[in-house]
Amino acid sequence: MNYLKNDLFASENSPLFTAIPDKQILDKSLQISVPGQKFRDWSKQNHADSYVVMQRIAQAWKKSNITDQYLIYGKADSHSFHWDMIPYQKCHTSIGRIVQQLQVLWRSTFGGIEVSENSLKNQLKEYQLLLSPSSEIIQSTENANKGNDSFCKDTTIERQWVVMGKRVHVLFNYAPIGFGGERLHFLVVPKNHREAFTDVTKEEYCESLAITSKIVDHFIKTRKNIKDVYFLNKTGVDAGQTVKHWHLHVIFSSNSAQNFWGRITFLKNILLGSAPMKKDSLAKRVGELRKELATLK
Ligand SMILES: [Zn+2]
Repeated sequence: MNYLKNDLFASENSPLFTAIPDKQILDKSLQISVPGQKFRDWSKQNHADSYVVMQRIAQAWKKSNITDQYLIYGKADSHSFHWDMIPYQKCHTSIGRIVQQLQVLWRSTFGGIEVSENSLKNQLKEYQLLLSPSSEIIQSTENANKGNDSFCKDTTIERQWVVMGKRVHVLFNYAPIGFGGERLHFLVVPKNHREAFTDVTKEEYCESLAITSKIVDHFIKTRKNIKDVYFLNKTGVDAGQTVKHWHLHVIFSSNSAQNFWGRITFLKNILLGSAPMKKDSLAKRVGELRKELATLK
């Protein structure tokens, strides 16, 4: 691993590492980790530090015209956890968009492509300039605006909420993807309208991850068949953002998703989505989960 020096971003005693991985999902993608720690080991401070790092990266990409479309992806398994920040290229056709999506999904499932030494050197140089310590991040403000997307509509929230936080709510996805009878698939959504990741405030992000951690702990404890948990959030159409209101997907996957076809099907579902639930079954499911998760706090 060739790590960028982590003190480019965070406080000197942060254990967070930001690296250009040996195998990259797309050109310029980065990995953020706390070496040796699983998702469940990440502290509140780790998440807060990673917010600052990821904001710095996203803002630098935008400022230097690299991209304003990206995917932030993480997979928690029993060994390790890291965030992948994957910058998308602007696509002019929908075919191009699909090809790029497929590349990302395939490589994040089965492994990225090896980075040549030359490319690594160039990327390191570029990032050291781009992420110089003097480039302070711009903090989003806590203003309460409304958009006209579905996550700004009370009807959506009323129909799908399972946990209500102070700044964010957790919704059950009406078209859950994933495996195993339950298809547990949640969306963590700020109450105020935030479109891109760069619009999300530190408080909102930290609360999102705090609630997510509790939900992950809960289901790992109570469901024996859960193997991995996937986290993803997208900014921009090319990266697959469908609702223009930032949200974090939390998707549980069971043992059956581990073999080759399981992984392929999972990938297909992430790419194409899955069928929406019938109104009645959704209401029943949401009711049960609301009750179950009410004890979380
Ligand atoms: Zn909105």
